[in-house]
Amino acid sequence: MPFISVAVPVPYLDLLTYSVPSHLDLPSVGARVRVPIGSRTVTGCVVEAPASGAAPEEVKDVVEVIDAEPFLPPSIVELCRWVADYYLAGIGDAMAVALPPGAREKASGFKTRRVATLTAHGRSAAAAPADTPDLRLTTKQIEALGVLAATSATLPLSDLRERGITVDVVGRLAARGFVSILEEAHERDPFETAAIADVRHDAARELTREQAAAMTELETLAAAGEFRVALLHGVTGSGKTELYLRLAQRVCATGRQVLMMVPEIALTPSVAALFRAAFGERVAIQHSGLSDGERHDQWQRIRRSAVDLVIGTRSAVFAPLCRLGLVIVDEEHDASYKQEEAPRYHGRDVAIVRANREGALVVLGSATPSMESYQNAASGKYARIVLERRVLDRPLASVRVVNMRDEYAAEGPDIVISRELAAGIEDRLSLHEQVVVLLNRRGYATAVICRQCGDTFDCPNCSISLTVHTARNGWRARCHYCNYSVMVPKACRKCAAPYLEHTGFGTERVEQHLRDLFPDARIGRVDRDSVRRKGALTSLLSRFAARELDVLVGTQMIAKGHDFPGVTLVGVISADVGLGLADFRAAERTFQLLTQVAGRAGRGERRGEAVIQTLYPEHYSVRLACGQDYVSFFEKEINFRRGMRYPPLVAMVNGVVRGRTFEEAMQTAAEVVRRLELGASAAGFSTLGPAPAPLAKLRGEHRVQFFLKGTRRAEMRQALRAVLAEVPDVRRRVTIDVDPLSVL
Ligand code: ADP
Ligand code: ZN
Repeated sequence: MPFISVAVPVPYLDLLTYSVPSHLDLPSVGARVRVPIGSRTVTGCVVEAPASGAAPEEVKDVVEVIDAEPFLPPSIVELCRWVADYYLAGIGDAMAVALPPGAREKASGFKTRRVATLTAHGRSAAAAPADTPDLRLTTKQIEALGVLAATSATLPLSDLRERGITVDVVGRLAARGFVSILEEAHERDPFETAAIADVRHDAARELTREQAAAMTELETLAAAGEFRVALLHGVTGSGKTELYLRLAQRVCATGRQVLMMVPEIALTPSVAALFRAAFGERVAIQHSGLSDGERHDQWQRIRRSAVDLVIGTRSAVFAPLCRLGLVIVDEEHDASYKQEEAPRYHGRDVAIVRANREGALVVLGSATPSMESYQNAASGKYARIVLERRVLDRPLASVRVVNMRDEYAAEGPDIVISRELAAGIEDRLSLHEQVVVLLNRRGYATAVICRQCGDTFDCPNCSISLTVHTARNGWRARCHYCNYSVMVPKACRKCAAPYLEHTGFGTERVEQHLRDLFPDARIGRVDRDSVRRKGALTSLLSRFAARELDVLVGTQMIAKGHDFPGVTLVGVISADVGLGLADFRAAERTFQLLTQVAGRAGRGERRGEAVIQTLYPEHYSVRLACGQDYVSFFEKEINFRRGMRYPPLVAMVNGVVRGRTFEEAMQTAAEVVRRLELGASAAGFSTLGPAPAPLAKLRGEHRVQFFLKGTRRAEMRQALRAVLAEVPDVRRRVTIDVDPLSVL
């Protein structure tokens, strides 16, 4: 009896082996199967057929083979195996990101119809002569098999009914394993529902000299028709999008497909709209803002090769394209490419691995490349293509720094908007120009403190202070990690004194200050709280683009890729928000955010200006962002990383062990680290910790962390995997993050 390896949707589990009973055909890699696990039957995906290696002693039978053809292309199955291996995730978790919604359940929640498809068993029955005695089929059943065999994919039951084949007939065929019946979503066009700006691509537009030179280089790379990586390092407004589009058209013209990855589609609807305008029907879109039904539809279109180009967020890297020729990763430095739950993969890095396997070109684009990518370009691993100037020789924004220490000394400690920034905003408003104001912290106040006894308002589940938000009937304090929320009382809970003070400020407070200062200005706010309602973000951004708003206040959501030609002033309320964090990427993140947000100014005809408020004007990430001097920043930062042995110079793995008590978490973590250390020097890595995680308590659990640092990744993975298998019950209590972006 043949055996197969199956990925099942159970966290942390590795591949399971099943036997294929003789009445079922051997399914292909990528097909879905129903298999027993414990007392349940689940839908899994075939990863090896037949299974490699020896079969375990007790093997259960596959119950049903759902797909006669691979549902996931085998290349995607292999990519998921790589993800599971590299990121130390369960294979089921890794496969889950590649499957379209509803692939595993009887679909619900979106418009579906029932469709029938032949199983492998049914296919051979259909091929057998009609009078084969041991099949014992009725005339209607033979007819149904014939109709299904004549279509390449699935047929809706309603279509079969129109041909005189009732649901009953199909049902009986299904019961005998000839046919499987599935729920399938009706196709809808997500572009219809998305309120996307009306964009047209001007194909006749002449490229600037710099763009043209970059285009020639990119075309040469693409023409090689094999795996390459290019870093397109172009300042904000240098016209990178135009190059992506033209290169995509070139590659499609040769019959290969394009994957265009963007950090968040809702934040840059114009990029999606531009590609849609250029490629028309041959575009599919994949991102989490779509309903399950829409995502499922789009996935099916890609699978059927009905598209030339897929545009999507990080999970689009698993799109079932089969002739991939080009992957573009726009804003490749963006942290949203990293998934912060299992599997903790980085979309850009998986894209590079995928392109390597499929012989495609990767273009990484950014004005502020990640340290990783720039290092690879500097060492010659990636081609480097540079755009130093904005299109039409528009100047970069001029940046001025306001030292908030001076401002506090002059105006008192409650000042939020400096005199210089306020004057600048007033100026722009009088000229009917637009302003963007950034503060990368949401809420009204960051903490509540009792002035009498010093009691602070902390989350009962997490070691973090609650953030104060304005509410209809007063102040509401909310935890940004577990969502615990409570109204802020009038008096202190501890000492009953009525002296509760709000300290620190967030976007809501900035918005209120602006309204007080400029009562006539039309002001909008963009942060995760203000855009909770579906469509709210698109609406705010399109009102700002249509100049129905004068000022947009927001978190880093407003710093990304937008092209608003009316914006001539960008204000940064506090450049220091990220700098205090105990995180080796803090300087990089600050530099990126400041450079990107300053890049939002002056993209139209008028020169832009940025005003940056900070307590640390001499900090190199602030100083060099003001000069938009990426290369100097990189050099300074890489020396720091080298000195401290941080990525990209070494590989790092972060582990967080959770426990009901601190001691429990600490004990387990110490045991893991002790075992890791036994093999560490032979495998060339070192361990750090265990120590309390920066967020020592989260959602009621205590957290202890440890690190691995080294250069031989495969050996680090192997050691970690071995230890996790040895320590009983540890898998469920430890989170492993390979190449972590943020450590909490
Ligand atoms: P980036 O992505 O590098 O920040 P964009 O691609 O958004 O820059 O380009 C900035 C602006 O310049 C856009 O409005 C775009 O339409 C325009 N643009 C790009 N290339 C040209 C060109 N060759 N001639 C005129 N305008 C251009
Ligand atoms: Zn909490």
